[in-house]
Amino acid sequence: MPEHSLRVEPIPALKDNYVWMFETAPRHWAAVDPGEAEPVRRYLESHSASLSHILLTHHHHDHIGGVEPLRRQFGPRVIGAARDRHRLPPLDIAVQDGEQVEMGRWKAEVMAVPGHTLGHVVYRVQDALFAGDTLFRFGCGRLFEGSPEQMWESLLKIRALPDATQLCAAHEYTLSNFQFACFLEPNNTDLQGLLPEIFQQTDQEQPTMPWPLGKEKQYNPFLRADQPAFASTLGLSGQGAAQVFASIRKKRNSF
Ligand SMILES: [Zn+2]
Repeated sequence: MPEHSLRVEPIPALKDNYVWMFETAPRHWAAVDPGEAEPVRRYLESHSASLSHILLTHHHHDHIGGVEPLRRQFGPRVIGAARDRHRLPPLDIAVQDGEQVEMGRWKAEVMAVPGHTLGHVVYRVQDALFAGDTLFRFGCGRLFEGSPEQMWESLLKIRALPDATQLCAAHEYTLSNFQFACFLEPNNTDLQGLLPEIFQQTDQEQPTMPWPLGKEKQYNPFLRADQPAFASTLGLSGQGAAQVFASIRKKRNSF
């Protein structure tokens, strides 16, 4: 199979999580952030496949809850941040920023992105970015542990990736995040024009990702905190990007 043909599949889990799956070898798949085991098990059974790897972005229960039952059944290699190994399930491969991990025919590149939690990492496999709870469509994760400055720096690292990168986030928050983005910019006609497409996807309960990162750079308010015109729309002219970011994040928390 050619190197560029990574296919990713979101499996809905828990209330609004996605477990992202991709094939690492014939009849072997990797699962990213299995918050519960059962949907992953069903998926593997329907593909007559086994689980070769689990990638973990961070320690929250809705991302790791399925690890132990899946480990018992399939014996996958479990990958997660060395920094958080004290609060992650036991790791077979503990990774750090900038490292690469081989998984069958693919390599995952690890990026440390502190903010939502201090140990949060994201994984890049070919074009796919498994972003956990750091970046969502039109949104970003809550700051449970990191500072706005840390999260902004983390988002800048992600923003520097190619436009064709496919965002694969761990939650389906697109509709509520879109409504928040429209609330911030009621006069942004390009943004408002996305409404029919987003309603169509969400009405049919279709996953709204994978999604090109290039579009997020254009529309996601949390990736635009350093745009003077955007800051001006928000009444925050002259403030630093991290402060603008902090202000948007605070508004989102009470939206
Ligand atoms: Zn989380």
